[in-house]
Amino acid sequence: MSVEQHGFQTEVKQLLHLLAHSLYSNKEVFLRELISNASDAIDKLRFISLQDSSALGDDTQYHIRLSVDKDKKTLTISDNGIGMTKDEAIDHLGTIAKSGTAEFFKNMTGDSAKDSQLIGQFGVGFYSAFIVADKVTVISRSYKAAANEAVCWASDGEGSYTVDNANKETRGTDIILSLRADEEEFLNDWTLRQAVTKYSDHISCPVELLTTVKPEKKEGETDEPAEYTEWQQINDAKALWTRNPKEIKDEEYKEFYKHISHDYDDPLCWTHNRVEGSQEYTNLLYIPKHAPWDLFNREQKHGLKLYVQRVFIMDDADVFMPSYLRFVKGVLDSNDLPLNVSREILQDNKVTGSLRKACTKKTLQMLDKLSKREDKSEYATFWTQFGAVFKEGLVEDYENKDEIFKLCRFASTNETTGAQDVSLEDYISRMPEKQKNIYYLVAESYQAAVASPYLEALKKKGIEVLLMWERVDEWVMANVREYGERKLISVTSEDLELGELEDAEDKAKQEEVAKESADLIKRMKDALGDMVADVKVSNRLVDTPSCVIGSSMMTSQMRRLLEASGQKLPEEKFTLEINPHHELVKKMSAQTDPESFKNWANLIYEQALLADQGGLKDPSAFLKRVNSLLLK
Ligand code: ADP
Ligand code: MG
Repeated sequence: MSVEQHGFQTEVKQLLHLLAHSLYSNKEVFLRELISNASDAIDKLRFISLQDSSALGDDTQYHIRLSVDKDKKTLTISDNGIGMTKDEAIDHLGTIAKSGTAEFFKNMTGDSAKDSQLIGQFGVGFYSAFIVADKVTVISRSYKAAANEAVCWASDGEGSYTVDNANKETRGTDIILSLRADEEEFLNDWTLRQAVTKYSDHISCPVELLTTVKPEKKEGETDEPAEYTEWQQINDAKALWTRNPKEIKDEEYKEFYKHISHDYDDPLCWTHNRVEGSQEYTNLLYIPKHAPWDLFNREQKHGLKLYVQRVFIMDDADVFMPSYLRFVKGVLDSNDLPLNVSREILQDNKVTGSLRKACTKKTLQMLDKLSKREDKSEYATFWTQFGAVFKEGLVEDYENKDEIFKLCRFASTNETTGAQDVSLEDYISRMPEKQKNIYYLVAESYQAAVASPYLEALKKKGIEVLLMWERVDEWVMANVREYGERKLISVTSEDLELGELEDAEDKAKQEEVAKESADLIKRMKDALGDMVADVKVSNRLVDTPSCVIGSSMMTSQMRRLLEASGQKLPEEKFTLEINPHHELVKKMSAQTDPESFKNWANLIYEQALLADQGGLKDPSAFLKRVNSLLLK
């Protein structure tokens, strides 16, 4: 006997159990999944046939066919796509590899009412057949196999499946669903037509239904004319992106997105462009509502579905989108690339370059539109999900830098929530007349940023500061120096440039304070020796006694990152800035005993280091000093 029995992977068993026992609504999604698989199988074969024209034999008209047997209560979905060998059937229909399904499991609650809702939203692929069937039989013949080399896969969706050798006259796959007793509505023409229109209109190959036709009795005829059956096409079968955007409904765009992205959620927005002229192409680009779990993994598969003259060429064509837009999903159909194009050819191809530019521009325009929608929460969703990746574009895409900047959102001292919703344009519109530059602070966290002593002087002058704390910020801000005419200035930079914000009166006052403190500064320099690069009177501190300023281009945040990654960095000497108005500094100044003064000077310095670096080389020496002063 050639029948083999196999057990399902544990996850598959769990999924099957749920599908069979707890789905109450949206049951027709199984058709979307099975038709989508059939369409994928046809796309795959279409691509193979580009290189190998013999792959099709004389079965050259692609189609997906639905037929019902009312007596046996079966619904069959057939395609003449790539088909499966026995090994492929075992591999593909016995295990779950897809990340979407993993996501599905993560979201499961154990509450069957809630979970059944989830199933409707998530695409769970082939196994959704068991929503309506208590037995599924798959008869498949690979395009490489002979008629007697087909495979029959069958399962009742309990814990196992069987595979056996089979005969099949034509290439492709038949999925035969033995419908559960209460699912007989899927034997109705009308139900099937409805579901196909809803989910599969955009599938580019015809979906046909075997239909019984009853001819009308003609005049003079005495006998009832004989019934006959024929295949009737029930979908539009026009690739969605080739249609006129004005005639496409939002629902159709959304369904198409789900089809290409395997996402269970609606997209956030999309843009559909058909370009004719020296170059001819169509693109349909979508922004998802949520980031994939592996967004920050550079190896992650991303990119557009590439078609050439409406022939599917490849998935994940990543050369058409810069890396900072790697979350964009969609389709690109070009008339200017050769049909036999490969990933290698795409790499250095002039057409690729200009298509990439066009796709980038369209994406930025789409985001600009999204940012101007009345409902601000939509753009906020985009920013929360993808902002950290999008910001890489400020460095990666110099040509579009200002466009990208306009689309960036930051937290700022203007509000107290830490929400990242301030644009540079908002910031500029609020600037006092005298302010020319844009001030920002990169810190380790939002909490560290708002509490930073570097903000004090600016706060006092009523100047807004943008606050950043994400991993990429340090690197990005080190590489962008201006937005249009305006300089971007870190409030931690050595000579904090306040320009006209510093009025004459301020300056005079500062000079006076510096003069008054000259003696104190000298005493401190003597006390701290070459531990510090310099000691100065600060013009940025209000409530804090002291702060340190790095001398190198490297900010403290970057230093921490590099140190954390195990890099050996040269010992850095800081400039110590002190605030002579602060009570502690006054107290230090009053110390006449040299030993005691030295202790105080060290303490003031170490405090500043601790606040800036988040740690000290010798914490116990610091604590000793604090304790001895506390006890006095
Ligand atoms: P996905 O479509 O996301 O890969 P599915 O669960 O829908 O996940 O399908 C699993 C796999 O089974 C497919 O990737 C494909 O290899 C195979 N498969 C399913 N249906 C067909 C079919 N009609 N023809 C050929 N292969 C198929
Ligand atoms: Mg599928």
